Amino acid sequence: MIDFELTPEDEASIQAAHKVAEEMLRPIARYYDENEHESPQDLINTMWETQRAGGLLGLGIAAALRIEETCWGDAGLMLCNPGSGLGGAAILTSGTREQQERFLKRFSEGNPKWGAMAMTEPGCGSDTAAISTTAVQDGDYWVLNGEKIFVTGGKRAVDESDGLVVVWATVDKSAGRAGMKPFVVEAGTPGMRVEKVENKLGIRASDTATIIFDDCRIPYENILGSPEVRQLDKTQTAGFKRAMATFDATRPIIAAMALGVGRASLDFVKETLEGEGIEINYNTPRHKLTAIERDIMDMEANYKAAKMLMLRAVWMMSQLQPNSLQASMAKAKAGLVVTKITQKAIELMGPLGYSRKYLLEKWMRDAKINDIFEGTGQINMLVAARRILDYSRDQLK
Ligand SMILES: Cc1cc2nc3c(=O)[nH]c(=O)nc-3n(C[C@H](O)[C@H](O)[C@H](O)COP(=O)(O)OP(=O)(O)OC[C@H]3O[C@@H](n4cnc5c(N)ncnc54)[C@H](O)[C@@H]3O)c2cc1C
Repeated sequence: MIDFELTPEDEASIQAAHKVAEEMLRPIARYYDENEHESPQDLINTMWETQRAGGLLGLGIAAALRIEETCWGDAGLMLCNPGSGLGGAAILTSGTREQQERFLKRFSEGNPKWGAMAMTEPGCGSDTAAISTTAVQDGDYWVLNGEKIFVTGGKRAVDESDGLVVVWATVDKSAGRAGMKPFVVEAGTPGMRVEKVENKLGIRASDTATIIFDDCRIPYENILGSPEVRQLDKTQTAGFKRAMATFDATRPIIAAMALGVGRASLDFVKETLEGEGIEINYNTPRHKLTAIERDIMDMEANYKAAKMLMLRAVWMMSQLQPNSLQASMAKAKAGLVVTKITQKAIELMGPLGYSRKYLLEKWMRDAKINDIFEGTGQINMLVAARRILDYSRDQLK
């Protein structure tokens, strides 16, 4: 039976995350939006200490709700959080126990560190099978060559900490998806360099890097997975399945991020209306509602629908149940909902929404990424449709 019940400790940790969002993230959100490539060092140090004390991350519903709260504060700053990040998710879903221990230990000791995941390339986005970065075995090493773009936290992982990047590369281009494997490249490895950092529409506090691999040699043992997964098996497509397993874990989290931005916008609208003495009369028949009441209730209904999908996908993950369908549904719905809520909020607020005096215009810019990374809205709807209709990848493209 699905159970979304929270313990009193969980409730307290979610409230604590809200307090951090309100008191630490909101006040500096505009500054780091306007000074895109500066690092919020004090916040990073505080987050690192909190996280090491077991405070911020973790798995399960409470963790997802803490992420929602943090993104209610600021999604870009939330993505500056040190920690194993997407790279860690890939290591957890693809690595052996020994690899998890070896690579993830660093995220609980010493100075702040970041983990990133590099899949996207200039010629490879939604169609992950088009990866052209190569990994060639040379004795006890792999040699990586290629270019990865739009790597979240890439600069912090590679240049600003002893972090790591999980790089998806092909060991045999002719094998398509079966040739795709995940490799861990640690910061400081010769042959890996950050080429540039993007200037972006939203989540501007988060660094998004292009990383070049130029005869980058890594130990053979840095290919993630058990010996069976590592083997090139043209029928099993094991490497690709690992990539999808990573997305099953991360898509519900992106949905939680989206919900935080959506709720921030909804709260702003409702508080502004309240300040003007405009009440939302919930217990009124629909035909007697004002246009603004109807709009707000529609926004809230969509927010809640996305939240239920997110909670179900996270709960299934925490129970180790297969959740590909639910993860994609949650991500597709939340990505769409947050873009619509933020745009509607600006429409309702007029100049207040458009002015840089308030954060609403920023939230509209921050919202869109949730409908792009970790699979676009269209791709997640495609994944969901295939699962519901029981169609193969070739039958429904
Ligand atoms: C800020 C930011 C951070 C990112 N962080 C990371 C990261 O950390 N690691 C990483 O590897 N990548 C990252 N990405 C890349 C992101 O995952 C890709 O941009 C995304 O997967 C889409 O790929 P693409 O840009 O190549 O678009 P394309 O695949 O070229 O898609 C273009 C458009 O076509 C649509 N489309 C494509 N195929 C289909 C189809 N079959 N049916 C219907 N519509 C389709 C898409 O939905 C989209 O609207 C990031 C991107 C951004 C902007």
